[in-house]
Amino acid sequence: MSKYPKIIVDLKKLEHNAKIVTKLCGNHNIDLAAVTKVYCGNPEIAKTTVAGGVKMLADSRVENLIRLKDIDVPKLYLRVPMMSEVEEVVKYADISLNSEIKTIEKLSEVAVKENKVHNIILMVDLGDLREGVWPKDVIDTVEKVLKYKGVHLIGLGTNLTCYGGVIPKEDNLGKLVEIAKDIEEKFNIELEIISGGNSSSIHLVTSDKIPCKINNLRLGEAIVLGTESSYGQNIEDTYQDVFMLAAQIVELKEKPSIPIGEIGVDAFGNKPTFTDRGIRKRAILAVGRQDIYPEKLMPIDGEMIILGASSDHLIVDVTDCDQEYKVGDEIRFNLKYPAILQLFTSEYVFKEIK
Ligand SMILES: *Cc1c(COP(=O)(O)O)cnc(C)c1O
Repeated sequence: MSKYPKIIVDLKKLEHNAKIVTKLCGNHNIDLAAVTKVYCGNPEIAKTTVAGGVKMLADSRVENLIRLKDIDVPKLYLRVPMMSEVEEVVKYADISLNSEIKTIEKLSEVAVKENKVHNIILMVDLGDLREGVWPKDVIDTVEKVLKYKGVHLIGLGTNLTCYGGVIPKEDNLGKLVEIAKDIEEKFNIELEIISGGNSSSIHLVTSDKIPCKINNLRLGEAIVLGTESSYGQNIEDTYQDVFMLAAQIVELKEKPSIPIGEIGVDAFGNKPTFTDRGIRKRAILAVGRQDIYPEKLMPIDGEMIILGASSDHLIVDVTDCDQEYKVGDEIRFNLKYPAILQLFTSEYVFKEIK
């Protein structure tokens, strides 16, 4: 018997998305790193993206890189490393994104000790104000990085639309390319990777506006959801429902739409408000805020209304639904990126990978 609540992963659809996105980027000479953090580095799911043509895997948690260690493609560590995890980064990642010289020095020490060469992508902040060296400081930083043994400056990267919501454009990514050219000239080196961001850069690929020296993107959402994240558009010929939530009905009753009694605060300390729709048929599903914030759920049944949730119960209004639901029925929801991340992280949510 199936266990609930569960997140259902359709590997065939995922492989299809990986193929389409790999081809789309390949047409512009861009390799991609498939970002696996949203599914906690699950190796079976990650392998499927490799089957779809992806040549590199990337994650922001060392724990997830460890799960991926037996998959035979290079691994990229996405979060600027903590000083306390440098040993593990050198062990489990072939490349890491970096912005602090102190950390790069430590990576170098560890790599030398381990007889390894660890590859560094130096992050440049083009205005989104998350990680990265400020453009005017890049040359100085590169000069220092090049002196360290045990690390190899493999390229430059940037990250946009994460903190500041800055959209990748020809001008800001163009600046990254300019800086890369400067470095190549000044230090007489070749930068193998110019990593132009995440799924928010896809719109520049589809509109043929991505600066041509950009040869890498780090893509989570584009593969997992088939969407680009600057404008929320679907990528042509991809699936948006690779991941779905299924929860089970544990109570189904007709009740009024306004609570009876003096209204204080709800289980989370908020003062609730209600719309009087009269007597309505309400279903309680066994899934709650411990698993998922209800605002992130999109019922597949378009007539279903999400009323609210406490820690373990989700209440939906099914009065207008054509289907005659019963206790024990499964209700499915489509998910956006944050919902997938939250559900995959919960140990109370079963993972059905098929
Ligand atoms: C998560 C992450 C990505 C992937 O982002 P998507 O929007 O899912 O494509 C890329 N780069 C870095 C540094 C990240 O942390």
